[in-house]
Amino acid sequence: LPGDSRLPPWLKTPIPKGRNVVSKRKSLKSFGLSTVCEEAKCPNISECWGGGEHGTSTATIMIMGDTCTRACRFCSVKTSRAPPPLDPNEPANVANALADWGLDYVVLTSVDRDDLPDFGADHFTKVVQQVKAKLPDMMVECLTPDFLGNPELVLKVASSGLDVFAHNVETVEELTKYVRDRRANYNQSLQVLKTAKQGNPDLLTKTSIMLGVGENDEMVHRTLKDIADAGVDIVTFGQYIRPTRKHMKVVEYIHPSKFDYWKEQATSNYGFKFVASGPLVRSSYKAAEFFVKSLLK
Ligand code: SF4
Ligand code: SF4
Repeated sequence: LPGDSRLPPWLKTPIPKGRNVVSKRKSLKSFGLSTVCEEAKCPNISECWGGGEHGTSTATIMIMGDTCTRACRFCSVKTSRAPPPLDPNEPANVANALADWGLDYVVLTSVDRDDLPDFGADHFTKVVQQVKAKLPDMMVECLTPDFLGNPELVLKVASSGLDVFAHNVETVEELTKYVRDRRANYNQSLQVLKTAKQGNPDLLTKTSIMLGVGENDEMVHRTLKDIADAGVDIVTFGQYIRPTRKHMKVVEYIHPSKFDYWKEQATSNYGFKFVASGPLVRSSYKAAEFFVKSLLK
């Protein structure tokens, strides 16, 4: 964790590297794919890839390249106004890599591609369709860009055959301008989530909030109300960790007990169906667990 030297004890976890992780990495590289799990050095990798408590494995694959047209102040992905063109073989490669892997749940996410006329919506849709055609039982979550709020493009992805539509508000309304790229907009993100749910009510919708960037409790409560009103089913809370010294500073390291408080609030006061909340929680953390639990009910 290079950006911050004085981390509180609950964030000082070594990154475990099991055998599972090494062999999967080789297989993915052979298909020219990369995972957010590895690129972001996610501390949950052994747990997610290995299967956790219920033996269900999750991984997050990045599609549409490694270069984003936006520059959010918390994000370590590289930026360019004109990233390389999309790879037309990517939908098939993702499906083949996943068939080789044997995961239970995949999160497909992407950089923002504001350089493309449809912001990548058609490509996203093709990836889901090919994965579902090859692996009908695999649960597919898409963590999507905002498609600049275009409802037709949101609906296209929301009806591609995926199980979970995720789009992150990232932070409270008051801090959105500071934290996210100037083209992102809090109400636009709420509208994206709302459009996906209204267009396909069978979908589960999901969003994530980073804590520790200067928000206060009142702001977080208002955000929870707004996303509940947008029909969102699942919310996750994690700590912002500064990727490098060039990125925005952490304002506060939130204590684990406060994450428990937000989990309790989101579940009982706002009625979310599933909440993951903790300092090391990432948007996709143990995403498969929710489905196992709902099947066991
Ligand atoms: Fe990073 Fe997404 Fe922002 Fe691009 S839009 S800079 S990938 S958080
Ligand atoms: Fe990958 Fe997400 Fe799990 Fe981290 S939390 S290992 S990014 S699936």
